[in-house]
Amino acid sequence: AQSEGGSGYIPRYVRINLNVGTLDEAISALATPRRLSLTEDRHTTNPKEFYEDAHIPGLLAFHPSISFQTEPLYLNGLLILQDKASCLPAALLSPPQSDKTIVIDATAAPGNKTSHLSSLMGNEGKIFAFERDKHRYATLQKMLKKAQCRNVETTCGDFLDTNPLDEKYRNVSHILLDPSCSGSGIVNRLDYLLESTENQEQDSQIERLQRLSEFQLSILQHAMKFPAAEKIVYSTCSIHPEENEHVVREALKSVEALQGDFHLAPRSQVMPTWERRGRSEEMYDPVDAESLIRTMPGVDRTNGFFVAVFVRGDSTSLDKS
Ligand code: SAM
Repeated sequence: AQSEGGSGYIPRYVRINLNVGTLDEAISALATPRRLSLTEDRHTTNPKEFYEDAHIPGLLAFHPSISFQTEPLYLNGLLILQDKASCLPAALLSPPQSDKTIVIDATAAPGNKTSHLSSLMGNEGKIFAFERDKHRYATLQKMLKKAQCRNVETTCGDFLDTNPLDEKYRNVSHILLDPSCSGSGIVNRLDYLLESTENQEQDSQIERLQRLSEFQLSILQHAMKFPAAEKIVYSTCSIHPEENEHVVREALKSVEALQGDFHLAPRSQVMPTWERRGRSEEMYDPVDAESLIRTMPGVDRTNGFFVAVFVRGDSTSLDKS
């Protein structure tokens, strides 16, 4: 699946953690002892070359054979191994770097996106990070320590149990939702999904997707109750519309029913040049699909992923072109 240029080819992506050092520091340290060279060619599959990703600032792409497990820059937290698609949610949430910015990462472990947010925020402001699983919570804490995240307050608990009207969350302006999902976009699990042809397996998969999508919708609706929230990013590493477009369209429907004021950010604000958008046939209003991002393994050199960006405000002034 990882043959060069083949349909499953995914580079080894490495994100520079600005809490620890700079891109220049990382590039010069990597280039010298390893004799790797930074290239302008953004599609190279040469093991001796690497490139900076065109969409995510500070994301470097190496040949998959390059290992970082013993690399000092990886061990000290400057380099974080994180697939390109997994970098999209924090990059799109893009919380401003200010001591006034308050963010929630609702489903945080192992913490890749939390540490990405912290890096983007320059370790300023505050991130409330929730994780309900005890073991995964321990991993989250370890990761945040290694990544030198000083602006994160972690809670081992269920995000759905938080009271959005609690004084503590009064000024939360940005929320990241990356809930549990089927993981069907992860390349090495696709074969398994394609092979599940027996009726019984399909039935249980349908039920599982339904359970997941109900949970995903509830988490999105809960996030919309935070009074100062202006931007919410919802993401999954699933390729199933049930967990993606369907969750988004039901959330929009409930906003309408409650006369709320969240809507999808227009395409012009969500990586407008990215080709793969949501599936219009799965939305109540097909135009909404333009606001959504999908990534496709094999085409985008990353795992299958889905991202939706909700913003609060007057939807009449929106450019949906
Ligand atoms: N954002 C993480 C990252 O990039 O490293 C990955 C998150 S993973 C897809 C989803 C996580 O959410 C799991 O660790 C799961 O235990 C946790 N989770 C699921 N439901 C939750 C809830 N209601 N409250 C808090 N955490 C939850």
